[in-house]
Amino acid sequence: MRHAFGLILASFVTAIVIAGVWYFTASPHASHAATQMAAARPSEPPPAISKDAAKDGAKDDVQVTAALSGQPPAPPAPAQQKSACANPNALGVSRVVVIDTTGGPGFGFEQFKQFDFLTDKEVVLTFDDGPWPANTPAVLKALDDECVKAVFFPIGKHASYHPEILKQVLAAGHTVGSHTWSHANLNGKKMTDQLAIDELEKGFSAVKQALGAAPSPFFRFPELQHGAAAMAWLGSRNVAIFSCDADSFDFRAKDATQIINTVMTKIDKQGNGIILMHDFQKHTGEALPTLLRRLKAGGYKVVQMKAKTPLETLPEYDEMLVKEMKLPVASSRPVSSVVQTVSE
Ligand SMILES: [Zn+2]
Repeated sequence: MRHAFGLILASFVTAIVIAGVWYFTASPHASHAATQMAAARPSEPPPAISKDAAKDGAKDDVQVTAALSGQPPAPPAPAQQKSACANPNALGVSRVVVIDTTGGPGFGFEQFKQFDFLTDKEVVLTFDDGPWPANTPAVLKALDDECVKAVFFPIGKHASYHPEILKQVLAAGHTVGSHTWSHANLNGKKMTDQLAIDELEKGFSAVKQALGAAPSPFFRFPELQHGAAAMAWLGSRNVAIFSCDADSFDFRAKDATQIINTVMTKIDKQGNGIILMHDFQKHTGEALPTLLRRLKAGGYKVVQMKAKTPLETLPEYDEMLVKEMKLPVASSRPVSSVVQTVSE
C-alpha cells in the first residue's frame, strides 16, 4: 500500500515537472521574457567592443604617457609602432606626451626652467617660420621617412600664403602651434601691449583659417624675445610657451653639415632637449635625413608633444582676417566694372 502511494506521488511530481517545462518553453510568457531582456539592452553600459573600436580608430600608434607627472616614460609598443611605419630601421617616436596648457607653462631651458620632463637621451623636434614651398615639404618627407613627429610654429602670414602646405603638416600627424602673425619682435621698443596681443591672436587665427581646424595652444616667440605683456596674455589664454634647449642656428648655417654639427654638439653636451630648427630654411630639409640618422645612432629618442585641448581662437580676430583676405579681391576689380556710366 505504501509502495503504491509512492508510485502515485512520483507520477504526480513528474507530471508537474513536464507541465512546468512546457510552460516556460512553449508558452507566450517565455518569448515575452526574452523581449523584455532585449529591450533592456540599450540601457546597459556600452559593450567592451566599443573600446576596441575606439582603439582601432585612434591615429596614434604609440602609447600616450602623461606629461609632467614625474613618472618615468612608459616603454613604447614596438609591435604597433612597426606596423604603422614603413621603415623598419626608423628612428620613430618613443613616447607621446600630452600637455595641459592651463596657465601657460613654459618649456625649454634656454629661458624656462619650469618643467623638466625629458629624460636622458630624449629630444623634441621643433620647426619655426613655415609653411614654405619646397622647404617645408622637404622637412615633412625627412620626418616621415624616419616616422618621427614634431611641433611646428608657423608664421600667420605664411600660413595665409600657403594653407595647403600647413594642412599637409597637420595631416602628417604633427602638432601645429603659432609663431605670431608677422614675426614681430614682441619685446621690441616700439611694441605696445595691444600690438603684441594682436600679433598673438591674429597669428593663431591665421593658422586656424589655413588648417580649417583649431591650432594647438603652443607658441614660440620670434627671436625668443619674451615681452611681459605677451607673456601675461598667453598665460591668461592658457597657451604653452616654447623656448628651446638646442638652437640649430640653421638660419645662418652655410650648409647642411653645419646644422648637423651644431645640433649634435649641443645635444651630446646636454644629453637631451628641445631642438629648434626652421622648416622655412632650405638647408634644414637637406640636413634632416642625416641628422635623424645621427640621433638614432647616438641612442636618442624622439618625444612627441601634443596639447590636451585645442586653442579656441577669438572671433573678432577670425573675422578681422576674413575681411583682410577679401580686401585684395574687392579692390582688384577695375573701376569700370564697379562704376558704369549709363547716361551723360
Ligand atoms: Zn622665427
